[in-house]
Amino acid sequence: MTSYGMVIDLERCIGCQACSTACMEENNVSLDHIWNRVLTEGGDNIDTPAGKYPEDGGDGTGTMSMEYLPMACQHCDNAPCVKVCPVNATYTREDGIVEIDYDVCIGCRYCIAACPYNARAFNYDKPVHVPAEGTGNVPERPQGVVEKCTFCTHRVEEELDPACVIACPADARIFGDLDDPNSTVSKYVDKYETEQLLEELEADPKTYYVRGQMSPGRQRPTTELEGTRRKKTSIPEGGEQ
Ligand code: SF4
Ligand code: SF4
Repeated sequence: MTSYGMVIDLERCIGCQACSTACMEENNVSLDHIWNRVLTEGGDNIDTPAGKYPEDGGDGTGTMSMEYLPMACQHCDNAPCVKVCPVNATYTREDGIVEIDYDVCIGCRYCIAACPYNARAFNYDKPVHVPAEGTGNVPERPQGVVEKCTFCTHRVEEELDPACVIACPADARIFGDLDDPNSTVSKYVDKYETEQLLEELEADPKTYYVRGQMSPGRQRPTTELEGTRRKKTSIPEGGEQ
């Protein structure tokens, strides 16, 4: 069986938001939604560092730090959203990706309430795009339905990596088959200490986070592990760029 998942290496993430931007462009996401958010951790407010300046940083020891947490649908193996959907519009594909059938969704938003990761958005209004005709390689979703990250299924079905993985300049995002012991994601989960967010809720997310301190000189993931592959960057069939 195939079970797609993702590793997000927080040691590598530089908070550039390239993944977020690429996701919006590729998936034709309305301007009032963000499927893939890059949060900051530790500061008093959003997008602020932890620590104090200059009190703690002025003596050269510096305690200020800025850490990022990219967040999107975690494609849970035991997905709360799937369980509550009264019409089975939200379902888990055979390859483990949690998807929404927009023709079936009745907009009840039970799934939004059930998702512990705040990964879903509801189209209260008609989607707004710049340019108006939309972008990317998937059609816009209609008003009145819920939408979220799909792991770029339209790309995955053509054996391409999701747009966020391609766009990340730091190689902080690694996508692949968790059931294949030779995939890069499996090797990461095997080699590094990983964390599933809100693990105690037992949703069993298939997005794994690597935390750690910066280690200068650490090799890029494309060359680090034996047998890893290069990113698959082509444009999906019928797509434009
Ligand atoms: Fe569902 Fe939320 Fe889990 Fe995604 S992160 S599968 S929307 S419960
Ligand atoms: Fe972090 Fe990569 Fe996203 Fe930039 S593109 S915010 S480095 S995960």
